[in-house]
Amino acid sequence: MQNTSAMKQESPSGLTPMMQQYWDTKQTVPDCLLFYRMGDFYELFFDDAVKASAALSIALTKRGKANGDDIQMCGVPFHAYEGYLAKLIKAGFKVAIAEQTETPEQAKARGGHKALVKREIVRIVTQGTLTEDHLLDTGSNNYLACVCSASENHFSLAWLDLSTGQFHAQSLKSLPSLLAALERLSAGEILISDKLDTSILSDYRRLLTVEPDSLFNAGNAEKALHDMYEVQSMDAFGHFDKPLKTACGSLINYARKTQQGVLPFIKPPKVIEANGLMHIDAATMRNLEILRCMNGEKKGSLLDTLDKCVTASGSRLLAERLSAPLANKNAIDARLSEVSAFANNSHLCDDVRNILKETPDIERALSRLTVGRGGPRDLQMILRGVEQSFLLRHVLDQDKLPPLQHFNDSLTDNPDLSHFIDDLKSALADDLPMLTRDGGFIKRGFHAGLDELRDIRKNSQKHMADLQSQYVQKTGINSLKITHNNVLGYFIEVPSKQADKLMVGNQEASNDNPFVHRQTMASAVRFTTAALAELESKLSQSQERSKAIEIEIFEQLAQTLITLAPQIAERAHIIAQLDVASALAELATQENFCAPTISENKDFDIKKGRHPVVEQALRKDKQGESFISNDCALESGQSLWILTGPNMAGKSTFLRQNAIIALMAQAGSYVPAESATIGLVDRLFSRVGAADDLARGRSTFMVEMVETAAILNQATERSLVILDEIGRGTATFDGLSIAWATLEYLHDKTDCRGLFATHYHELTTLTDTLSNLSCHSMQVKEWQNEIIFMHSVAKGAADKSYGIHVGKLAGLPAAVITRSEQILGELQKSESHGKLSTLAQDLPLFQEVSQQAEQSAETAKYEDMYKKVQDIDPDSLSPREALEALYALKQNTN
Ligand code: ATP
Repeated sequence: MQNTSAMKQESPSGLTPMMQQYWDTKQTVPDCLLFYRMGDFYELFFDDAVKASAALSIALTKRGKANGDDIQMCGVPFHAYEGYLAKLIKAGFKVAIAEQTETPEQAKARGGHKALVKREIVRIVTQGTLTEDHLLDTGSNNYLACVCSASENHFSLAWLDLSTGQFHAQSLKSLPSLLAALERLSAGEILISDKLDTSILSDYRRLLTVEPDSLFNAGNAEKALHDMYEVQSMDAFGHFDKPLKTACGSLINYARKTQQGVLPFIKPPKVIEANGLMHIDAATMRNLEILRCMNGEKKGSLLDTLDKCVTASGSRLLAERLSAPLANKNAIDARLSEVSAFANNSHLCDDVRNILKETPDIERALSRLTVGRGGPRDLQMILRGVEQSFLLRHVLDQDKLPPLQHFNDSLTDNPDLSHFIDDLKSALADDLPMLTRDGGFIKRGFHAGLDELRDIRKNSQKHMADLQSQYVQKTGINSLKITHNNVLGYFIEVPSKQADKLMVGNQEASNDNPFVHRQTMASAVRFTTAALAELESKLSQSQERSKAIEIEIFEQLAQTLITLAPQIAERAHIIAQLDVASALAELATQENFCAPTISENKDFDIKKGRHPVVEQALRKDKQGESFISNDCALESGQSLWILTGPNMAGKSTFLRQNAIIALMAQAGSYVPAESATIGLVDRLFSRVGAADDLARGRSTFMVEMVETAAILNQATERSLVILDEIGRGTATFDGLSIAWATLEYLHDKTDCRGLFATHYHELTTLTDTLSNLSCHSMQVKEWQNEIIFMHSVAKGAADKSYGIHVGKLAGLPAAVITRSEQILGELQKSESHGKLSTLAQDLPLFQEVSQQAEQSAETAKYEDMYKKVQDIDPDSLSPREALEALYALKQNTN
């Protein structure tokens, strides 16, 4: 956890003036590692150096003394600092960058020979305020969030992606809703006041930035918003109550602080109405593996499986939609009709996707340029991106499909933007350098003065060549050449053996001998002449001036861009939306998904539903097994299902697939089913398996109970609840009792739609008393003492569990299997579980059973071998078959 209000330290004695400057700068950013620019390096000192050298695995050295002790130091080269910076940010550090803000010459002119070069902090880099592409995951948003507490159980949350300019706010009326929202955002940094009780955000401890409460002053926050958007009131942008304004404005003030006053283009904040979204709590998000799998990886998640987007902004938008599905029928239908428009017009879908494939990430380029961190390549991205948006409009215009018309309207030509794009086209060269300061990115013909300077340079080079031939002629030394390096600049070089000719007379230049000695090397001697010096100065002046002109042109273009930022951001958003709609259409066609029907009542009728992730995984597995689809109708009289069946039969998969189908439908996607009718789900809950959460001191069972409690307290009659084997983590009777009571509560009190998988067969009897409860089971077939999982769901309860059978499949020792069967037999015989206490005495000793089991397993092996040998007919075997038979027998003995 970071705290900017850390105590300032007393300055140590014995510091040199430069170290004193370092010390004073560091005191302004006590919670950051300070990158202090010294020549070609960013240096770190004192504790910062110790921490950074450990985190970066770089050498720790020392420089000078403080209070008589060595000052620790480490450094990173400034031309390659980004990789180091990324590592430190990832490790949870904040980094302040102090640059030299004047040249040594300027310092001397200002304060004499001993004057120190001025240094200032130009930026504070934190995880939530990154804008550089190489420090970010292109397909995910990087949110900086701010949590304010309005009153007890009322929070305001604002979140901002500085790399794309997206800005949102939401009022939350309970702590679980706040935690759900934070889980959904998976923010990179969370800003809070030092007055907020951090224990409520203990899960996010690593991400918290704690700032003094003064930063969250309501008046300052509101003013920050008014200044930023040049408005008198925020009403134009939605309904902002005071706490929301405070969260948004504080976020802006913090962002401004880290960027030292310069902010990128940020869209006006959008207020998210809580009832407009499907509520998905943190545990459900994780359990359903929506954005990330349980192991934290993106690979194998629902997002990874569904993402067919071809632009980074499309992938980011899809992630946002899957983590925050809608709860409003009209809004969902609008998204679905966009997908349908593409799904039903494959040529249009292909055309749009082909254009999108060539469309760069203009959202992030815009942000970098408007924050002053962009380069020529960013301008080119804007040029290409906006040009592609013109093409998109042209293609959409041909079909004029009503669901897509609003995109067309928003992509209407804008004369200012077109003009700017024309300017960019004529300004930018084909091959662009990374950095503005490298120059050479403005096309010939765009600026007459620049062309002139470039001509001078070109001619000077020709003059240089002429001068060289002249000197060769004059001296008769054919190997004489004019060349340059960074130390001497341009010089004339001849081999040592021939240098004497140029040394004739004194070393002052004269008409007879214009050559002035500069340097003697082992095998060559270097000279200069007045003519060469003059030419060199012309050359360097023209170089400097052309760079300055290019930088000026760049700044002018960037300035114009800032005035057009809202239009460009709007286009970027349309590109993302078109990508998501066409990608979902492509997915639906490839995977045979159907358009769901969304209703306002409590329908839930899925025909031939599938689990999209498991289905794809089975296909990739190439074992030939394909996914078995299943129906699920949670209707009146059976809105709550109990699902029984053996382990490994597919219960969890069935439960999750129905939750995922509801989530996908409300996110505006087609779904993996033959048909699906879904009454709006306001809250989705899934408790599917649990693991120990030792970091928070919770056992598996505790986690299970916390999650179950959250469901029972928050679910409404419009919710969809998925519960997998609750009560399994404790003693049989406790577990059964909890599962029983939970089921009754969901049925009688909550009256929600739900699926309840269990191994407690006793629960199936509840159908007699609970009218909306219905029993279903996973089908299995028994064949030759083996069981085959059918993966299909049928009405009615399962008759047995087959747990021991699954244990056998998993390779439990024969003795354990035999013993388990024996115990199960006894238990099933006993009238009541009360007999359990005496069971251990009644059963034969484990030792005996174990020996018997091992012997009978051995006997079975020999019998099998004997039969195999008997079946061999040596006369009918070829030598090769005989050898193979021998190998097979040998393998049996292992
Ligand atoms: P347990 O009670 O042990 O948790 P389970 O009944 O919940 O087991 P799942 O974990 O859902 O079983 O499924 C086990 C495996 O069966 C899955 O990993 C998958 O490979 C396969 N499977 C599940 N459902 C299907 C299906 N409908 N079609 C094909 N294979 C399936």
